[in-house]
Amino acid sequence: MATKRDYYEILGVEKGASAEDIKKAYRKMAIKYHPDKNPDDPSAEEKFKEAAEAYDVLSDANKRARYDQFGHAGLGGAASGGGYGAGGPSMEDIFSQFGDIFGEESPFGSFFNRGGGGSRQRVRRGSDLRIKLKLNLQEVANGVEKKIKVKRHVSCTTCGGNGSKNGTAVQTCSSCNGTGQVRKVVNTMLGQMVSTSTCPTCNGEGKIVTDRCDACFGEGRVLEEDVIPIKIPAGVAEGIQLSVGGKGNVPPRGGVAGDLLIVVEEEEDVDLKRDGSNVVYDLYVTFPDAALGTSVEVPTIDGRARITLEPGTQSGKILRLKGKGIKELNGYGRGDQLIHVNVWTPRTISSEERAILEKLRASPNFQPKPNKNEKGFFEKMKDFFHG
Ligand SMILES: [Zn+2]
Ligand SMILES: [Zn+2]
Repeated sequence: MATKRDYYEILGVEKGASAEDIKKAYRKMAIKYHPDKNPDDPSAEEKFKEAAEAYDVLSDANKRARYDQFGHAGLGGAASGGGYGAGGPSMEDIFSQFGDIFGEESPFGSFFNRGGGGSRQRVRRGSDLRIKLKLNLQEVANGVEKKIKVKRHVSCTTCGGNGSKNGTAVQTCSSCNGTGQVRKVVNTMLGQMVSTSTCPTCNGEGKIVTDRCDACFGEGRVLEEDVIPIKIPAGVAEGIQLSVGGKGNVPPRGGVAGDLLIVVEEEEDVDLKRDGSNVVYDLYVTFPDAALGTSVEVPTIDGRARITLEPGTQSGKILRLKGKGIKELNGYGRGDQLIHVNVWTPRTISSEERAILEKLRASPNFQPKPNKNEKGFFEKMKDFFHG
């Protein structure tokens, strides 16, 4: 392979050129060296490809930075042309960029069908189905398998999906000769170009049903209730979208089905609040329990657990149940359950209780004496969230 030329040199721009200048320069090159415009110059196609490769790198901020720093070597494999495989970009690659460069109405429409004799038929794809799925905290934490009932368009078995009676009453569309595309000649700044668009007679299908199937009324598909088993991984969160390939709708009269998209909704738990991969529980204890110590039951994701409160537990203390939180979506590790201790102050008291409390009020042990190790709320939160 010959030494590669500098990408900036190829496009004829300065090293510090703006994205807009690079795009302009490339557009100029693409027009100048377009193979359709240079049928007698075999080197044009090479130059055309070279410019496309340079543009691919310089139009991508990431690739451009690597190229600026390390040259061609910064872009991976020795023979690699930027983001393309060995051997540089294919014509397909190049034309896939043209949406950006020339807008949807590419003046090179005719080029797409080269080689295929203009008869290349795209595979049509049906629409995606989107459903919402409510999950409780337990299901989110551990993952779950569900069977989901959906109504989806499936291929009609009576006609085999083509929409015609007995599956045979189909004719090739005469407007487009079965290609699904019609061409028209348009005048552009580059001279006359052939532009192609979807055939309006057959809607791009290339075929016309002359006698409709009774089961699907010519649609080639029927609405059916389907039960689809899905596996929800542990650690999903509100708004996450999972997709099951090929379980959406099939398009009318043949093609591949879209996907089933499942959007996760989290059901709020009465007791446990989720905080990332941790769950937080607010525990309320009486003043005597906090002062004397006790053992209490708390709810966890996997059922109830018994915990011990040391004598002299302060309100605001956070206890941690390690590994009792939510599994990480990436499969590594599991969060904790944090128990936030709140010492409950009675809202009303009897005269008998008042007498006892008045007595305690004077006791020197009841005077607050936070020591140095007693962290305030702010420090505690810092500890928990920053290790
Ligand atoms: Zn049918
Ligand atoms: Zn047609």
